[in-house]
Amino acid sequence: MALLDIHVLGSPILRQDTERVEQITPALRRLVDDMFDTMDKAKGIGLAAPQVGRRERLAVLEVDDTRLVVINPEILVKEGSVRGEEGCLSMPEVYADVNRFARVVVRAQDIDGTWYEVEGHDLLGRCLQHEIDHLHGRMFTDRLSLLKRRAAMREWDYEKAKYPKLLRVLPVGDLPAERDATSSITTP
Ligand SMILES: [Zn+2]
Repeated sequence: MALLDIHVLGSPILRQDTERVEQITPALRRLVDDMFDTMDKAKGIGLAAPQVGRRERLAVLEVDDTRLVVINPEILVKEGSVRGEEGCLSMPEVYADVNRFARVVVRAQDIDGTWYEVEGHDLLGRCLQHEIDHLHGRMFTDRLSLLKRRAAMREWDYEKAKYPKLLRVLPVGDLPAERDATSSITTP
């Protein structure tokens, strides 16, 4: 169990594409476990590998008590449009309304490498789209209109000064109990 440092906007890895995961190794399971711990500690609902400085195409999510790991996710179905507020662990204190598909169906592999499909609307749908964006170098602010993006970036310029190394180091202490990688994950 370990907490990982979170890269904040400005760190180049957040703008890079990820690499497909070809094999589920013990090291990858450990990474997923650490990402869940880091997401919990940061009180987030999603965390993608580039946010912890990694190139693997995977993200973890927890929405409405459902914990998911999505490995090599692809959006199969996109329908409708809905607007809602988003923030990001890599842009603390910056929030904005973002347009997303109202419903998505995502195909991904779980921690055992098994392919599954998950349907997401409301918060889960939004979170899946936000995390999959991260896996392709995109931030939620990229989806804002020019004016709104400028306003968000002005806020971020102010907040960013708190992270001179472009890393967010989470405080250690009252860590969640030790878990193994498989028991912490639910797949539908
Ligand atoms: Zn994010």
